[in-house]
Amino acid sequence: MQEENLKLEDLLSNSSVPGESDTITKVAIIGAGVMGQGIAQTIAGSGIDVIIVEINDISLNRAKTSLSEFIDKEIKRWAMTNSEKKAIFSRIDWETNFNHLNECDLIVEAVTEDFELKMKIFKEIDELAEENCIFISNTSTLSLTKLAEATKRPDKVIGLHFLTPVSKIPVVEVVKCLHTSNETVNKIKTFTKILGKTPVEVYEYPGFVTTRAIVPLLNEAMYILLEGVATAKDIDTAMKLGYNFQYGPLEMADMMGLDEVLAWMESLWKTLGEPRYRACPILRKLVRERKLGKKTGEGFYRYDENGNITP
Ligand code: NAD
Repeated sequence: MQEENLKLEDLLSNSSVPGESDTITKVAIIGAGVMGQGIAQTIAGSGIDVIIVEINDISLNRAKTSLSEFIDKEIKRWAMTNSEKKAIFSRIDWETNFNHLNECDLIVEAVTEDFELKMKIFKEIDELAEENCIFISNTSTLSLTKLAEATKRPDKVIGLHFLTPVSKIPVVEVVKCLHTSNETVNKIKTFTKILGKTPVEVYEYPGFVTTRAIVPLLNEAMYILLEGVATAKDIDTAMKLGYNFQYGPLEMADMMGLDEVLAWMESLWKTLGEPRYRACPILRKLVRERKLGKKTGEGFYRYDENGNITP
């Protein structure tokens, strides 16, 4: 009997059924914008196969070019090698459908910060993924508990809040919703360590730690600009040199994507009702003009084709 049990355990630990063993061999990422590209690079760079799913061929090709250019810049400054780039791209499959989701141990949702869209995707992938597959959302402000309740596996739904640029930021928030099991939390914490990140465990709450704390700072910097106290460049220089920040707040907002920053503020304003989350009119104006920051070439600054701020 004991021998039989041992054999069964052995079989399970070598299981080829996605999600059943502790080994994560294939991960799907839905949405390859600013975050999805960085998450894909980080996971594929850790030796794990990745499927990227974008909404159409145009967005898929844009993501492929953008990730390739990002890594080329890293190679130019000797932070990566050509063979690392080759290895990363060889592990990524690029798709515009959900046909291969049943091969994945994890699915990471990284689409636009829109609750209805995320909900629709969670419902759809729940029908297609293996029953042990864990669902991860990279949402910054939306309710994971509600997303989990749209699935038949609420205990296997968890947040993993990576920050941008994903490949360089060493921390990730591991977000437990009301239903997330301890088993899922432990499995995902181990996964983050494989990616070389330090996991910080947080409970679901609008904005968690990092978004909630940074948003008022970004908003305040925008009001300082609006009130004519200083130029964008001087605000950023003051904050960088004054507080030893790597990026100034306006530069940071441009990097994050102004449409995303506005979506976070609106969500926090709606759920927490605090005036400090009321978006500065400058932000609304830039988003209306589709000046979304670095990803569109203009936001608080203008960017050249290499993504550098132009004078
Ligand atoms: P983004 O706008 O750069 O990218 C979103 C991508 O999702 C786009 O490429 C879009 O084509 C794709 N998409 C939309 N609908 C889709 C669908 N049905 N199927 C497949 N792809 C689809 O946004 P982002 O900045 O990458 O943010 C993504 C998520 O990550 C959001 O929830 C955001 O809150 C969160 N997040 C963003 C940052 C940041 O700094 N930008 C940081 C942490 C977390």
